[in-house]
Amino acid sequence: MDSPVDLFVIGGGINGCGIARDAAGRGLTVRLAEMNDLASATSSASTKLFHGGLRYLEYFEFRLVREALIERETLLRAMPHISWPMRFVLPYHKDMRFESATPTSRVLARVMPWMKGRRPAWLIRLALMLYDTLAPRRILPGTRTLDLPGTPEGAPLQDRFRHAFEYSDCWVEDSRLVVLNARDAQARGAEILPRTRVLSARRDGGLWVIETKDTETGERRTHRARALVNAAGPWAGAVIHGVIGLNAQDNVRLVRGSHIVTPRLYDHDKCYFFQGTDGRIIFAIPYETDFTLIGTTDADHADPDAPPECTPEERDYLIAFANRYFRRPIGPKDVVWTYAGVRPLHDDGASSATAATRDYTLKVDATGGAPVLNVFGGKITTYRRLAEAALDRLAPHFPGLPGDWTAGVPLPGGDFPVDGVTALVDGLLADYAFLTRPWALRLVRAYGTEARAMLGTATRAADLGRDFGATLSAREVAWLMDREYARTAEDVVWRRSKLGLRMGADQIAALDDWMGERRRQSAPAAAE
Ligand SMILES: Cc1cc2nc3c(=O)[nH]c(=O)nc-3n(C[C@H](O)[C@H](O)[C@H](O)COP(=O)(O)OP(=O)(O)OC[C@H]3O[C@@H](n4cnc5c(N)ncnc54)[C@H](O)[C@@H]3O)c2cc1C
Repeated sequence: MDSPVDLFVIGGGINGCGIARDAAGRGLTVRLAEMNDLASATSSASTKLFHGGLRYLEYFEFRLVREALIERETLLRAMPHISWPMRFVLPYHKDMRFESATPTSRVLARVMPWMKGRRPAWLIRLALMLYDTLAPRRILPGTRTLDLPGTPEGAPLQDRFRHAFEYSDCWVEDSRLVVLNARDAQARGAEILPRTRVLSARRDGGLWVIETKDTETGERRTHRARALVNAAGPWAGAVIHGVIGLNAQDNVRLVRGSHIVTPRLYDHDKCYFFQGTDGRIIFAIPYETDFTLIGTTDADHADPDAPPECTPEERDYLIAFANRYFRRPIGPKDVVWTYAGVRPLHDDGASSATAATRDYTLKVDATGGAPVLNVFGGKITTYRRLAEAALDRLAPHFPGLPGDWTAGVPLPGGDFPVDGVTALVDGLLADYAFLTRPWALRLVRAYGTEARAMLGTATRAADLGRDFGATLSAREVAWLMDREYARTAEDVVWRRSKLGLRMGADQIAALDDWMGERRRQSAPAAAE
């Protein structure tokens, strides 16, 4: 049996990897097991926004919104390659309505019954004023109002939209965020075990004894740890009740959210925030240069083991929602890809999926000596703060544990200024003359200052080895396999990148064969 580690983390989503990084940086010995690929569940299926969550103000979730608003710029500075500011255009029309159960709509129904559930413009302005002022901003510009006719923002919209508000939030490449946290955790001493399922965990002599199974080789391993973190996202309840066998009441509420992707629907680089007549909102976001991302839905999801998929009804709901705004209607034939994820929300007894809190809850159980910390809910945006709070809760079990450190510390490749992307792209183009600008930009957005290390001494495209299509080279795939835990083509084209949008099925199959062969060749060496 291995010697005990301080912390064993179950789950390689953003919360597990964020906690592993933070703990390793404080000097704890950390091991993390993820049963599939890193970010294979919810953390690659988000809307990919670092946002305060304008909508949550309606639910009076001021703590969550303020924390998330403050976080945006902290995160942006630490990862200017995979995150960037975005402007959101919120067209206003008097037919927009609240969900009837929000605290705000209940107050309005009492003091202004004649509004009949409508969202008045002054209320949106007030919410945006709060959004601008709840947290200090240095990088992100504040709210402004727009007269839409004759503007690029108004051009794709129907004529009935005359006015809009415009505000700031940020984009983030969610699955890259996870893998960069895992890499940084590893660089600080953590052991990251993808494709390793935790079968059981029990307390024994003041330690956790954890059984895992390698999902590729079937190999079983026993680990010991002083503390356990359950960051299993949608499976958090299954881990509590099945894997650990805790007698706890806590559970997760699974709320599915689906997105559709269409070819680019408009020419500018801003997002739209569309409000529905049913109280819900959706976003339309410029995506991967040539596409538009539209989402999301809120539907209860019964079983974490049932893979979430965008149902035809959800697809049609999103299409109909967008068609109430865009001048040129879209239909199912315009949908080139869909994806769905399950929000692992703390079950707070809310009546609707939309109303269930998005805030996180951390519960420590130390009844049997060694502590377990269960993580519920949370946002991609608050993962770093969640990790700090998690370490704070575990600190009594690790006397002398150093304090918070992650604010301001860049993730791998993120050690450059927030406005430094163009300079990095220009530098790559000057030194690697065979790159095109879109190719160089893709590499900078993925690897930041590490793009050079990935390209190495190449002087022509052929030096990067086999070309799998869509500018993906053997050199890059090898980098992803050797440093970013990629094992299959799916890991590469849907999580380490989104090149799956540009590659054909035959190209992806050829990539998968090549990666399989490379794994086989390196297996004996790895076993030595
Ligand atoms: C549709 C949608 C849109 C969203 N949009 C946003 C957004 O724009 N901005 C934002 O801030 N947040 C957003 N969120 C929220 C955010 O995505 C989630 O809160 C976050 O990704 C949850 O991360 P996690 O690590 O808790 O869970 P996950 O990413 O699901 O990770 C849990 C991991 O645990 C692993 N696991 C489970 N059981 C075991 C076991 N027994 N052994 C080993 N591993 C195990 C799973 O395989 C999984 O990878 C969105 C969520 C959804 C669903």
